[in-house]
Amino acid sequence: MASKDFYATLGVSKDASDEQIKKSYKKLAFKYHPDRNKGDKKSEEKFKEINEAYQVVGDPEKRSQYDTYGSAGFDGSGFPGGAGGGFPGGFPGGGPDLEDLINDFFGQGRSRGQRTSRNTRPKGRDLRYELILEFEQAVTGTEMNVQVRRAKTYKTCNACNGTGQVNFSQGFMTMRQACGSCGGVGAFPDETENKTVKVKVPAGVDTGTRLRIRNEGDSGVNSGPSGDLYIDLIVKDHPLFLREEENIVCEVPISIPQAVIGGEIDIPTLTGQSQLKIPSGVQPGQVMRLKGKGIKDLHSSRVGDLYVKLNIVIPKSTSSKQKKLMQDFQKEIEKDSSNPFSDYINKVKDFFN
Ligand SMILES: [Zn+2]
Repeated sequence: MASKDFYATLGVSKDASDEQIKKSYKKLAFKYHPDRNKGDKKSEEKFKEINEAYQVVGDPEKRSQYDTYGSAGFDGSGFPGGAGGGFPGGFPGGGPDLEDLINDFFGQGRSRGQRTSRNTRPKGRDLRYELILEFEQAVTGTEMNVQVRRAKTYKTCNACNGTGQVNFSQGFMTMRQACGSCGGVGAFPDETENKTVKVKVPAGVDTGTRLRIRNEGDSGVNSGPSGDLYIDLIVKDHPLFLREEENIVCEVPISIPQAVIGGEIDIPTLTGQSQLKIPSGVQPGQVMRLKGKGIKDLHSSRVGDLYVKLNIVIPKSTSSKQKKLMQDFQKEIEKDSSNPFSDYINKVKDFFN
């Protein structure tokens, strides 16, 4: 069997740190998530490959096995550790197993917690919730209530007798692996409850930002600690502003006379209408920067800038008076030896002489 390059799949080098691998995985998993690419077979395939790769190189133990022996033995389904995870159904918004899968892998804290307390008080499952925000809400931050359906009580998993682990053989060795039926939790949710959770969204979030709310996932098995709730944010587009990280770009139309003689124009900013002084002789597509009028960085106090792109609008039809004025303007330009075309006219002259 040809060895798969899990590092290449995740877009990292062989010597990447665990943190780099995790970061790259999250980015790719988000990009190719089936919820975001409905019906796209290629994305679905890619999503599976990414998860397969991360299940191996995202786990230090399996990673070192893989580094030594290659991908043989890690064929996607039957490898140690168990891919499944999560309970069937019971997910806010519903979702395929892949969603459980992504939930599992994002919820790294849970996996670690379970490993240490597997036979005593397993932690409840982490939950994932997608929250759609208006552009302005992402800029200023907001507080919202979300309804989450979470497991309240459990019934023991018969496949593993509640231990969360089952034996499996590889060659001559017998090893323990996470129970495929219950995803290693040792139980299935019995009763569920709807819970309202208050979500504080800080200023500066963007699509792809993930918030973690501790202990608001499923309640733990045998009074174990609750899982966490992960909120994945999706920010809607704005009709006027285009976001580029912490900066925003806004295209503002100006007339030919405004471009020629300059002046003051009204521009939209995040805090309302504002005035912008434009110089004379503005060129098509010229960009003016308004420092500190962008979006606050999520992780620091830095604030981005507002870039105003001046779009010179040429009228498609003109009145006879406008035409007359433009003709006079053109005559004046032609008389002027320093007109903006003189450079070009001289070059043409030189070429033909
Ligand atoms: Zn089980």
